Amino acid sequence: MKSVLLIGLGRFGRHMAERLIAEGNEVLAVDINEERVNDAIDMVTDAQIGDATNEHFVESLGVRNFDLCVVAIGDNFQSSLEATALLKDCGASMVLARANRDVHAKFLLRNGADDVVYPEKEMAQRLAVKYGNDNIFDYIKLTDEYAIYEIPVPQSWVGSSILEKEVRRKHHISILATKEDGKMFPLPGAEYVFKSTETLIVMGHFQDVRTVAKMK
Ligand code: ADP
Repeated sequence: MKSVLLIGLGRFGRHMAERLIAEGNEVLAVDINEERVNDAIDMVTDAQIGDATNEHFVESLGVRNFDLCVVAIGDNFQSSLEATALLKDCGASMVLARANRDVHAKFLLRNGADDVVYPEKEMAQRLAVKYGNDNIFDYIKLTDEYAIYEIPVPQSWVGSSILEKEVRRKHHISILATKEDGKMFPLPGAEYVFKSTETLIVMGHFQDVRTVAKMK
């Protein structure tokens, strides 16, 4: 369980607050807009009306006591930058800031953000990979080069084991799990024999995974 200070109760902030609470975390939500705070008050642990760019207000929040501070202000980049810097100045241990553009991400990181999330870009890229490739059913980016993918079992692998196909040595990917009928079976052993009815959850370099995903 973490204690989280969440600034900004727009759509993104609310979704994040809801999920954080559902996962058992404590959330103090802050917004400059009274109506947004009132709408969220029953959903979060505590909520306050205030301006996250105001030094006295931010100091009063006891920023050091939170495991995580999230700046979820979307449109107003100036405010988002000021709030991020202020939180860090007040001793925040971890600040996650939301960016709406590449250039914003860069400035947020330079001004105190420990990590930046760029939801539109990340979601757009994920969906482009997922829906733009017949052989990739899902995709979670880890770095620019590495990701976790869900791909079909190549036909030539069906009936053979992971060991026989030398998946790691020849294809440079790791099989994290197999999936069938929506059920996940994690960490198959070397003797595991591939079936045509399943898909594979694999981790690897995007080029290596694409090569395997296109194999017959
Ligand atoms: P979304 O795309 O998630 O709906 P918005 O930009 O509409 O994002 O929402 C951001 C929220 O952040 C709004 O509810 C707004 O009132 C709040 N906000 C903006 N500036 C500040 C600030 N200085 N202090 C606290 N909350 C702020």
